[in-house]
Amino acid sequence: MRRTKIIATLGPASQDGPVLEAMVRAGVDLVRINAAHGDRAHIESLAREARAAASRVGRDVGVLLDLAGPKIRIGRFRDGALTLAEGDRLVLDTGLGDTPGDGGRVGVNYPELPADVRPGDRLLLDDGQLVLSVTATTETTVDCRVETGGVLSDHKGLNRQGGGLSAACLTAKDRDDILTAAAIGADYVALSFARDAGDVREARRLLQAAGSTAGIVAKIERAEALANVHELCTTAEGVMVARGDLAVEIGDWELAGAQKRILRVAHETKAVVITATQMMESMVHSPVPTRAEVLDVANAVLDGTDAVMLSAESAVGRNPVRAIEAMARVCVGAEQERITTRPRLRGDERWASVNEALAMAAVYAASGLGARAIAALTESGTTALLCSRVRTGVPIYALTRNARTRARVTLMRGVVPVDFDPLAGPDVAREAVRRLLAVGAVTAGDLVVVTRGDRGGVAGGTNALKIVRAGEEDGAV
Ligand code: PGA
Ligand code: MN
Repeated sequence: MRRTKIIATLGPASQDGPVLEAMVRAGVDLVRINAAHGDRAHIESLAREARAAASRVGRDVGVLLDLAGPKIRIGRFRDGALTLAEGDRLVLDTGLGDTPGDGGRVGVNYPELPADVRPGDRLLLDDGQLVLSVTATTETTVDCRVETGGVLSDHKGLNRQGGGLSAACLTAKDRDDILTAAAIGADYVALSFARDAGDVREARRLLQAAGSTAGIVAKIERAEALANVHELCTTAEGVMVARGDLAVEIGDWELAGAQKRILRVAHETKAVVITATQMMESMVHSPVPTRAEVLDVANAVLDGTDAVMLSAESAVGRNPVRAIEAMARVCVGAEQERITTRPRLRGDERWASVNEALAMAAVYAASGLGARAIAALTESGTTALLCSRVRTGVPIYALTRNARTRARVTLMRGVVPVDFDPLAGPDVAREAVRRLLAVGAVTAGDLVVVTRGDRGGVAGGTNALKIVRAGEEDGAV
């Protein structure tokens, strides 16, 4: 069993039924739909195809809609690209819009840029492939000197080193895409370039108004967000180490420390955490990952990430299925290390709720007994989430008839969704264990720790724990 979850970004290489089905079979837990590429009809069709593939395979797969956010981009060139050499002059012109630029001039989609930068600032284009330094500004233009040249093509992204651009998190397009998130029943929505808790609350308000219960994943990808990781973790359901933009803003030398810090804060606050971008980038072309990529994925697993993510590898890569298989085997390998399965339980901790006390008691009992499984009968998924926050080595099964909840727990490390009706029989704990026997999760004789509420099917009602031996008629131990 693999505990770390795999997210695959959908794109031209992964939008057809048969490929999606093969990806689900290879182990995809969630698909990520990038709202930056495609309109509402396209997003809806991707979600529909992915869910259809999942139901053909018979697995629960979550849908994460990643909002485009205020990604600052240059406009177009008359010839589609411009070659720049060190020392050249380039003018970023906010008045140009999407009119093709020529000579040393190009549009930029962020009118506040001239007011936000000062001479001497470094601007990075195309994820840092090209570097500019600001020499002067006017009301509508930013005059730059090329420090590192190269070929600059249409619509490439622009970041300022050190962050500090004042662009608000939710753009007009994001507000529209939030309606789409509600329409497709997205399980999670990712907030690109989130700055602070206020951005998360605003997104939550808009989602709720649209009738969506999606969990929110704040992407940590600007310098300000790094300073606010704690509040982002406590207001959102999860965070993403969005290494692509983050590395450009803070400098790649800061990235390893930042990733470890984000993972640590996420663990402390019980937020779900995704490690993303270029994890197996060479597999866009190559059939096998590099050793460095293998180590990168494994290190994220050893550091306790809930999920690892594929971007271009699955969206435009030569073989998305192979990339998923490679990721899956590296995750399973890293999970064999004891460091990943030793529960982090502390005797002096105080629980915030009855539910948490039950979840911790279940993990403690399961570890100490060497139980084969924790079966959390759950309506909202909270018990499964709380159990998985201590990284126990014991698999956690989230048993619920609520398909939304099953899709939600796909992001939680070590949690397996199982369709189950809590009103199935007179002794619900024994019914649950029977269900786990039926799906092959446990075998006769295994001990299972079951958590449940007296009133089955009610969210937040977990108040009981029962230990059952699988396959024994009365279930007694
Ligand atoms: P993106 O976000 O792929 O939407 O840019 C992830 C990242 O920046 O790492
Ligand atoms: Mn990004």
